[in-house]
Amino acid sequence: MPALQAGPEIERLIQLLSKLPGLGPRSARRAALALLKKREVLLEPLGNAMRDAAAAIKTCEVCGNLDTTSPCSLCGDPRRDAHVLCVVEDVADLWALERASVFKGKYHVLGGVLSALDGMTPEKLNVSTLVARVKNGVDEVILAMNATVEGQTTAHYLMDALEQTGVNVTRLAHGVPVGGELDYLDEGTLSHAFKARRAI
Ligand SMILES: [Zn+2]
Repeated sequence: MPALQAGPEIERLIQLLSKLPGLGPRSARRAALALLKKREVLLEPLGNAMRDAAAAIKTCEVCGNLDTTSPCSLCGDPRRDAHVLCVVEDVADLWALERASVFKGKYHVLGGVLSALDGMTPEKLNVSTLVARVKNGVDEVILAMNATVEGQTTAHYLMDALEQTGVNVTRLAHGVPVGGELDYLDEGTLSHAFKARRAI
């Protein structure tokens, strides 16, 4: 075992930071050092914010969103259309759609995608709760899965699972991104954009 470069408290901080997405051991070390150098303005407020969040955050029992209340503020908002459900893989996708202000219905967070490799089976995703919600007066389900193999496999699985309910199921279009140049697109995106072309 290599000798510790710093005290055990600092090594533990680095070790925990390195578990965050996008942070490897090297960047975790830099982040830890930045925190330690700004103990009063950064390290202590961050520690307090994390403790408060850990105590207050709940998973919404209706949609799977993260909030301080359950049902969450989106589920409890009467101005949102409860007849349209947008299914996303993760809370991060819900946040992205909310930032874009494109959707005024309700959400359903699956909590992942089907993946044999990672042992993600339908039972581990919020599928049965989705079917139950749809049976309870939903007109349209929008499948907003990622354009990955797992995302699309999951979308197909959900279409089959929802077929018995008779609900109208739609999915997001795949194609040329806004501001995108054709020359830079991969063949899969170009092929999808061609197939999904429409009259203007
Ligand atoms: Zn909710």
